[in-house]
Amino acid sequence: MSNAPLRIAVLGSTGSIGRQTLDIAARYPDRLRIVALAANRSGELLAAQARELDVRCVAVCDPPCAPRADDLPDGAYCGTGPEAVVALASFDEVDVVVNALVGAAGLRASEAALRAGKRLALANKESLVVGGDLLMPLAAPGQLIPVDSEHSAIFQCLLGESGASVARLWLTASGGPFRGWDRSALAAVTVEQALAHPRWTMGPKITIDSATLMNKGLETIEAHHLFGVGYDRISIVVHAQSTVHSLVEFSDGSVKGHLGVADMRVPIQYALSHPDRWDAPVPPLELTTLGSLTFEAPDLETFRCLALALHAGRTGGTLPAAMNAANEVAVAAFLAGRLGFTGIDSVVETVMNEHGTERVESFEQLERVDAQSRRRAGELVAAS
Ligand code: MG
Repeated sequence: MSNAPLRIAVLGSTGSIGRQTLDIAARYPDRLRIVALAANRSGELLAAQARELDVRCVAVCDPPCAPRADDLPDGAYCGTGPEAVVALASFDEVDVVVNALVGAAGLRASEAALRAGKRLALANKESLVVGGDLLMPLAAPGQLIPVDSEHSAIFQCLLGESGASVARLWLTASGGPFRGWDRSALAAVTVEQALAHPRWTMGPKITIDSATLMNKGLETIEAHHLFGVGYDRISIVVHAQSTVHSLVEFSDGSVKGHLGVADMRVPIQYALSHPDRWDAPVPPLELTTLGSLTFEAPDLETFRCLALALHAGRTGGTLPAAMNAANEVAVAAFLAGRLGFTGIDSVVETVMNEHGTERVESFEQLERVDAQSRRRAGELVAAS
């Protein structure tokens, strides 16, 4: 390997994963160089990041949110619109794309990065939920490295192992802020309560997905595609301490788990350092003060979103795309105060029931399903 720094495009640089990626890059200035930045709407913060890091290639998804030219470094160019964001993923001067966009909007960027032969450090799980059938055949071995903490854990547990000896993947779930609650109590949940995740600091969309357990459903579909393991061999276990980040069970009865502090900078850094390991960006895990670790089955009756997502995954085809689109609309409506907490799973369920599932054939087809499902979910929110 050459000693030149890895050149990184951070898509979604103003969000939680994006900002933590810049933090990692700042710790390793001779190994990592940020060369492109993209944001959805936070043009001002994007411009500040570009000035600080002297990044000349930036893009903003929502054109009215683009920064003023004077706010960017000299000689910088700012593209606008979804295509401009996707274009950064295939720039010649980029080695690694960190896809930290939110939602199905990340799909085309993942496609572009893989087609251009870039390493894809994938934090945008919706890419695989919606388009896993199309994306995985584009990925060469070692090209797609998961950033999601559970999948990074499984990826690391699988190093040096043969796929044939994998008996089961165990995805751990914190259970979110409403672990142990019953269905009737969930109906009155406020936005503030749902945003108070007990373990992880994350952006608002994924924090709500963690509170409904939809996140674990999305992650099951993500794991299915990433590791080529059938749904009957992926199990979910609620582990409130979030110390064990996931496990792999092998045919001989051995189980390998990945433990660490709950800080996203660890899996982000690993996606950039792989196959090497660099010094920790966080304090070490102190086992003697951990106390007990608990494991329990998830409550699929209370957390209907998890049951719905597992059904979508097992059914396959375009159903996960429809489910994901409905969930994005419902979560945005909940955050805006236009839908109750249990309205999220009602909207998702109705859109799924009405969807005519087809085999996945093209990105255009998936975009059509996404748009139709968003429209229908929007009508259901308006009528709620
Ligand atoms: Mg995760």
